[in-house]
Amino acid sequence: MKSCLIVDDSKVIRKVARHILETLNFEVEEAGDGQEALTRCEARMPDVVLLDWNMPVMSGMEFLRLLRQRGHADQPKVVFCTTENDMAHIRAALEAGADEYVMKPFDRETLHVKLQLVGVA
Ligand SMILES: [Mg+2]
Repeated sequence: MKSCLIVDDSKVIRKVARHILETLNFEVEEAGDGQEALTRCEARMPDVVLLDWNMPVMSGMEFLRLLRQRGHADQPKVVFCTTENDMAHIRAALEAGADEYVMKPFDRETLHVKLQLVGVA
């Protein structure tokens, strides 16, 4: 069973994403901001991180930079979630080390395709 860490400051989005991921047979963990996500990754690296961008305490971008800088051998795939259909924004995320992106709100099929693209589903 693959594991996914959902990082989002919205409890509703975490709940929706958890439901979808569980139907796709993922073991799910949640974090409410980038700092909490880093702590979770250090305790146990997930196979994939579903990452929100705008969060209090630590943003998705800061989390991603720190995670990639630390250079763990077991780096997770990162799919970042955005509401902005803006190529500059998406490019910045990919340059910071994201593997894929998904537009919010996403449905099961869209998320499944993205997880297949990064090789975890
Ligand atoms: Mg947010």
